[in-house]
Amino acid sequence: MQVICHSSPSAQIIGKLMNHPLEVFHFCPKCGSSEFEIHNTLSRHCTNCGFTYYQNPRASTAACIINSKGELLVARRAKEPAKGTLDLPGGFVDNEETAEEGMVREILEETGLKIGVDKIDYLFSIPNIYHYSGMDIHTLDLFFRCEVDEESAIVKAADDAAELAWVPLREVYVERFGLRSIRQAVHRFLVEKR
Ligand SMILES: [Zn+2]
Repeated sequence: MQVICHSSPSAQIIGKLMNHPLEVFHFCPKCGSSEFEIHNTLSRHCTNCGFTYYQNPRASTAACIINSKGELLVARRAKEPAKGTLDLPGGFVDNEETAEEGMVREILEETGLKIGVDKIDYLFSIPNIYHYSGMDIHTLDLFFRCEVDEESAIVKAADDAAELAWVPLREVYVERFGLRSIRQAVHRFLVEKR
């Protein structure tokens, strides 16, 4: 079943049909009944036991990190989706974690940079669909900006980042970023924040 999402501005811009987020769920996860029907654009409802399950957008973070030379820290994706394309450091926010804590944790895990939660500035958010394990995971990607001193700008790629590079802004090409929201964010960052 396909539904048109009218609520998301990005969906309207793209103008394409989206799968229901629980398309691959055929049975109620509580009672196992097959009477697990699409309830609205975010949920399925079991008519056997009354259980309603929502797939709400998953919070995620990504960082535009600038060094003292005005270069942007760019990662190459080590894993699918979009393996091998360019990316920004970031990832999913854990349960019981603030977006800021999630952002600095992901920066540390993927780059080795230790940045305080008070050193990152929120920029904007962009919704995305992250295809993982045969399922479309809807995300709300929160973008942050931070600056690092040249001396502390030695980075070491790990986790989801295969390699890292400091790239002068004039040499940052948005079409090389594989994930849609990251591509949109880099474009917006280059236009608004350079
Ligand atoms: Zn049920």
